[in-house]
Amino acid sequence: MSEKQKGILVVVSGFSGVGKGTIMKKLLNDYKEDYALSVSATTRSPRAGEIHGQSYFFVSKEKFEDMIKENELIEYAQYVGNYYGTPKEYVFEQLDAGKSVILEIEIQGALKIKEQFPSTKLLFITAPSAQELKKRLENRGTETEDVINFRMKRAVEESEEIEKYDYLICNEEIDKAVSKVHSIIQNCRFNNLDE
Ligand code: 5GP
Repeated sequence: MSEKQKGILVVVSGFSGVGKGTIMKKLLNDYKEDYALSVSATTRSPRAGEIHGQSYFFVSKEKFEDMIKENELIEYAQYVGNYYGTPKEYVFEQLDAGKSVILEIEIQGALKIKEQFPSTKLLFITAPSAQELKKRLENRGTETEDVINFRMKRAVEESEEIEKYDYLICNEEIDKAVSKVHSIIQNCRFNNLDE
């Protein structure tokens, strides 16, 4: 058996409502040994069913600003009126333990991570069409119409930047999207063995 290799850093972004969360949940469930999902801190309020410490660390604006000052975050960004950021410690622990760490973050954060760690792989999940994206956001039933419209507007802005990503994956069907994401990451990891 070869020595345990360090994992790789992978950023997964995608339009709001595209199904990233569902893909990540299944990926982590199907390949427990391979991956760890970073849990972000945010100042947004929890949605129904979200659990503190699992979905996010839900913190006040003051606490988030303290985390910035104390240099506890690898990156942070503002998204539709709230702060979101990636706590450092867990990411490095998991990489050292041989897991590939997935950061499910938006585009500004993704680019900051790539700047700091150039070998990071950037994956972007798209929807089959804008109509389908809006339908998924509405079906989620967790946002008001105003928030949905903000998020659709943000999707248009984001689509101008997706060429900065290494891989685009269209989420037409969850199982297929999960296996695509897994094989891309495994290939990247294999090719990075000598880095
Ligand atoms: P949501 O409110 O839908 O959970 O997340 C809104 C956006 O923030 C999504 O695009 C999500 O990927 C992004 N996000 C979540 N955590 C982080 C983080 O730690 N840093 C950054 N930059 N974006 C994040």
